[in-house]
Amino acid sequence: MSDAVVIGAGLGGLLSGVILSRAGYHVTILEKGARPGGCLQTFTRDGLRFDTGFHSVAGLEEGGPLERIFRPLGLMDLPWEHVEETDEIVLDGVSHRLTELSYPVGNALRLSSPDATEEEYEHVMGPYRKGSWRLPAGDLIVDRLAEQIRGEIRTGCAVTAIEPGLVRCEDGSTCEGTIVSDIHPRLTFGMFRGHVRPSYLHRLQVLEDGPGIFTVYCRLQPETLPYRPWSTTYDGNLMLHYGNPDSQGFARSADLLTFCDVPVPDRNALADRMIQRIPGLAPAVMKYWTSTPATWERYTGTPGGTAFGIRKKDASCYVHPRTPVPGLFLTGQNCGLHGVLGVSETALLTCREILGETTLNQILQS
Ligand SMILES: Cc1cc2nc3c(=O)[nH]c(=O)nc-3n(C[C@H](O)[C@H](O)[C@H](O)COP(=O)(O)OP(=O)(O)OC[C@H]3O[C@@H](n4cnc5c(N)ncnc54)[C@H](O)[C@@H]3O)c2cc1C
Repeated sequence: MSDAVVIGAGLGGLLSGVILSRAGYHVTILEKGARPGGCLQTFTRDGLRFDTGFHSVAGLEEGGPLERIFRPLGLMDLPWEHVEETDEIVLDGVSHRLTELSYPVGNALRLSSPDATEEEYEHVMGPYRKGSWRLPAGDLIVDRLAEQIRGEIRTGCAVTAIEPGLVRCEDGSTCEGTIVSDIHPRLTFGMFRGHVRPSYLHRLQVLEDGPGIFTVYCRLQPETLPYRPWSTTYDGNLMLHYGNPDSQGFARSADLLTFCDVPVPDRNALADRMIQRIPGLAPAVMKYWTSTPATWERYTGTPGGTAFGIRKKDASCYVHPRTPVPGLFLTGQNCGLHGVLGVSETALLTCREILGETTLNQILQS
């Protein structure tokens, strides 16, 4: 049986691990954090569940780009809620629907794809015109993928060195096999002990990372604001999601997100300004918690806390899953587009490089 070692149990690492498991590999996933999931982790405060890097996806309609990947991987029977109303965009106080705005206006207003080209915008945002899908918690995806791994996921196991065909962990253990790295390519090659073409390393060094995100997780006064399952973006740089609906249809929580570079000098002042910008929100907020790019850097190891990894300004910013080192492959949001769709598509590319197209297609069709 072939062995595969996956570095990082984010969405990209888990999807690659599941596909390789289906292909008969014995898979070991090494995750530095206490739990698998990376950006898809969920946390609980005051009995409320908050998602960190997952709010909604698009493309889950039959034959949609994400459905075609999720169905064969057993992710379609999760309790998805289909939100038919498209996301709301508020510009200078005037509300629009995502469907009313196209590139470049729609792109400038959309927090999740600030650098996207028109083609990428259509690829990622086009499916949102058919509405979006939400889950009670993003880590349901993580659990469903984790249970399909044929092998093990070792948490609290940071990788510190990579050699051809071998990975070394902080605790002194080693793992051998085909290596798939779900972490930033610069970190991957920073740990690599062996010869790599200098021009390849130079290219990784000069690729720029995208910005970080500052999030305010709010606990709301009971029965004050109606729950709405779609997102609202204010003037292109503030996004609002309601969460934890009660049985009367009120939201018990709200998440506010804005792009932000490090450091954040006064997180409470920034949180208060964000809350004040949303009409009617301030009196409803009982309590809030915040996360900064430094929080992301601590939890997922992403350099500088970049939310979406390498900035994709044009085709030259994509990093191919096949590296110059035989048996060492890359996956995750740093290679291709970020987001659940982008990372899922990249996981297929990574596995196609390892397994070949015929085997991959057999797995996806079985
Ligand atoms: C605030 C925010 C909101 C978002 N909202 C949405 C959304 O609504 N819809 C959507 O589609 N997408 C959304 N995204 C994007 C989406 O969450 C990400 O693109 C995707 O989850 C990234 O997955 P990944 O596997 O590439 O990376 P990660 O999730 O970063 O996984 C990498 C993993 O590697 C581990 N790791 C790092 N270093 C090591 C090491 N040395 N050894 C072992 N393990 C290591 C990390 O701990 C982590 O678990 C959002 C992202 C953010 C940040």
